[in-house]
Amino acid sequence: MKITSLFSRQHPTLSFEVFPPKNGDHYNSVEYAVSQIAKLNPDFMSVTYRAGGSTAEYSVAIATTILNHGVLPLAHLTCVGSTRERITEQLQEMKEKGIENILALRGDIPEGMEHSNSWSYRYAAELIRDIRAYDDFCIGAACYPEGHPESQNQGEDISRLKEKVDAGCDFITTQMFFDNNILYNYIYKIREAGITVPVIAGIMPVTNAKHIKHICELSGTTLPQRFKAIVDRFGDSPKAMMDAGIAYATEQIIDLLANGHNAVHVYSMNKPEVAQRIHGNLARILEN
Ligand code: FAD
Repeated sequence: MKITSLFSRQHPTLSFEVFPPKNGDHYNSVEYAVSQIAKLNPDFMSVTYRAGGSTAEYSVAIATTILNHGVLPLAHLTCVGSTRERITEQLQEMKEKGIENILALRGDIPEGMEHSNSWSYRYAAELIRDIRAYDDFCIGAACYPEGHPESQNQGEDISRLKEKVDAGCDFITTQMFFDNNILYNYIYKIREAGITVPVIAGIMPVTNAKHIKHICELSGTTLPQRFKAIVDRFGDSPKAMMDAGIAYATEQIIDLLANGHNAVHVYSMNKPEVAQRIHGNLARILEN
């Protein structure tokens, strides 16, 4: 089943994310997280891909586990540092395993490295074109309501996004954001630019204050004053921060749903408790 078929329903779409283990030692704990999150019966579960590919096989294996739990998997795939031959092998493997949905990404260029002639891809649009030519996969791409850090300005960022959509992407998932008005403005602008594909709002429940400051610096995501106050007040107490982070994310999702934005993806980061609590908070809301 293709993820795009979910968007024709009146019903909201709620999905969760897991990431593959760094090495085989942690494989079981990721499988456990998948099994627990799958019990919530989300509309789909995504599994990230470690750019550079040293643990690439785990992503497809985890996506297959998701499928075996009866949940639709979305497998991320990055192309930085890769070759056309390698990507073709990976697409073939996904097809054989029954994985129909791919989030096609460039991936971050490793620090201190530059594009090399041995790499087949510079940008995600090229990967999307190859996937589209390979088979009838449902293809998603990343988008950045506050701009990608390498983009000069939002206009350029949106033009590059349009290239990905024109290359054949079927839906887009946003980078995390902590102020819904940023998303509402962004959607207005991309629609004006002729981008009509469904937008999945990526929501990050913040449970670790130090971690989020670092991620925001790297990704260029802004922390609104209201959120900074929460981090300043509760950041040193992991339990309080978890409660506050889940409450903040829940509130963001309710506001999105109330304003007619029906597709929400939660960056649940292998934490079943986070997924369970957000799902529990929304249980009756999702019935409407
Ligand atoms: P692109 O769309 O190629 O864009 C990268 C930059 O290049 C942008 O600034 C863009 O404006 C610019 N650009 C694009 N085309 C051109 C062109 N023709 N000429 C000049 N400039 C151009 N990373 C992982 O490693 N694994 C994951 O699983 C993963 N999942 C993600 C999921 C989501 C929803 C998001 C938002 C990000 C994810 N990332 C992941 C991070 C992502 O790989 C990085 O943000 C990466 O730096 C950019 O990837 P992209 O696919 O958006 O690249």
